[in-house]
Amino acid sequence: MSGNTCVIVGASHGGVNCAFELRKQGFDGDIVLIDKDPQLPYHRPPLSKAFLLGGDPTALQPLKAQSAYAQSDIDLKLGVEVESLDVSAKQVVTSEGAIDYDSVVLATGATPFIPPISGLSEAKNSFVLRDANDATDILAAVQNTENTINHVVVVGAGYIGLEAAASLSKLGAKVTVVEREQRILQRVASEPLSTFMTHKHKANGIEIVCQKTVSAVKTSEANQLVVLDDGTELKADMIIVGVGVRVNTELAQASGIETLPQGIVVDAHMKTSISNIYAVGDCTVFPHPTLGDKCHIESVQNAVGQARIVAQTITGKVSTYDEQPWFWSDQFDAKLQSVGLPKDADNILVREEGDNALSVWHFDGEALVCVEAINAPKAYVLGGRWIAKKVLIDKEKLTDVNVAIKDCVL
Ligand SMILES: Cc1cc2nc3c(=O)[nH]c(=O)nc-3n(C[C@H](O)[C@H](O)[C@H](O)COP(=O)(O)OP(=O)(O)OC[C@H]3O[C@@H](n4cnc5c(N)ncnc54)[C@H](O)[C@@H]3O)c2cc1C
Repeated sequence: MSGNTCVIVGASHGGVNCAFELRKQGFDGDIVLIDKDPQLPYHRPPLSKAFLLGGDPTALQPLKAQSAYAQSDIDLKLGVEVESLDVSAKQVVTSEGAIDYDSVVLATGATPFIPPISGLSEAKNSFVLRDANDATDILAAVQNTENTINHVVVVGAGYIGLEAAASLSKLGAKVTVVEREQRILQRVASEPLSTFMTHKHKANGIEIVCQKTVSAVKTSEANQLVVLDDGTELKADMIIVGVGVRVNTELAQASGIETLPQGIVVDAHMKTSISNIYAVGDCTVFPHPTLGDKCHIESVQNAVGQARIVAQTITGKVSTYDEQPWFWSDQFDAKLQSVGLPKDADNILVREEGDNALSVWHFDGEALVCVEAINAPKAYVLGGRWIAKKVLIDKEKLTDVNVAIKDCVL
């Protein structure tokens, strides 16, 4: 041991990037990267997209080749659970023993929430979708020739639910999406974008049922039914539950680190309330110069960006996390990209970019704060640049598709 050991808990987008970034920043101590998942760390976004469609349960996309860990002298411990942090002894206690630490990075992510629906826990072919195991189980059920999956009910119309719906429908299932809110993607996207995506799903044969909740699942030898609160019964050979996540804060909480229901509280340098313990990614609540004091973002970009900052902090540089959030999703032939968050917007403009494309521009007064784009990469790229540079935009020109986006600057 070098006398400077960083233990990273969680080897996904946040943890893996943190380990490699530490080396890039010149960290020459020991790096121990631990995950309870036994798989070589992999990209999560394809799990609801290409992985399901590819039909090959071994085709996970690794975040880094196995050899890269040894080359960067990163001690990757897979299939090992971190059970607690002993802050006074400075030890991480794992299922395989205790490890002394000088610094710890918590990159523990989140776990799907399973709503208390009567009959759900006994249901056949009922899945959440968070990790490789979930995706492999879904794929195995789809490929099981003895039990054909004709009808799928997806509970929850967030990004993961809708991506799974699109993929399973492409594989031939009749899919119904049930959403409690008034519209799909209500928590994360604007109304024009929801409307566009609702049409897209319906045009591809998916049924969308909003303002309804699932009250029960009835499973018998003959069939399985999802029962809605108005009594409607939907056939469901498979059920995908995508109603959001609960952040993995237990380790932090048990060690006395400040947490909120949305995550582990960190400052702009990714420091928690206990010295030498940091947190990154989906498990955090963090301050942001333009987005507010208590932001919580679930995205690859956020996990990767925070991993970079924590590596700089641990190696003694002073940098703060101030990146604009960006996100993408693929559903059927719609490539959705967004930059910024719409939360402070008081006016929006929609630019119809053709039959199968649109962009939604969110302003706080005259300041551009967010752009959502579907099949409109120029809007996404320029929008991101203009938000960062606080460029003022001619709104009238922007809504005229005959004016190129680049010519809409004031
Ligand atoms: C199906 C799917 C599709 C997605 N699509 C997109 C997309 O298109 N675009 C996008 O930006 N984002 C997408 N996301 C979200 C993105 O994957 C997450 O934001 C990202 O994975 C967060 O990374 P993280 O490292 O913070 O947490 P996670 O990826 O959740 O990783 C946390 C890790 O910590 C481990 N862990 C937790 N507790 C312990 C413990 N006690 N001991 C050991 N290990 C532990 C877990 O096993 C896990 O591997 C998608 C997510 C899913 C599930």
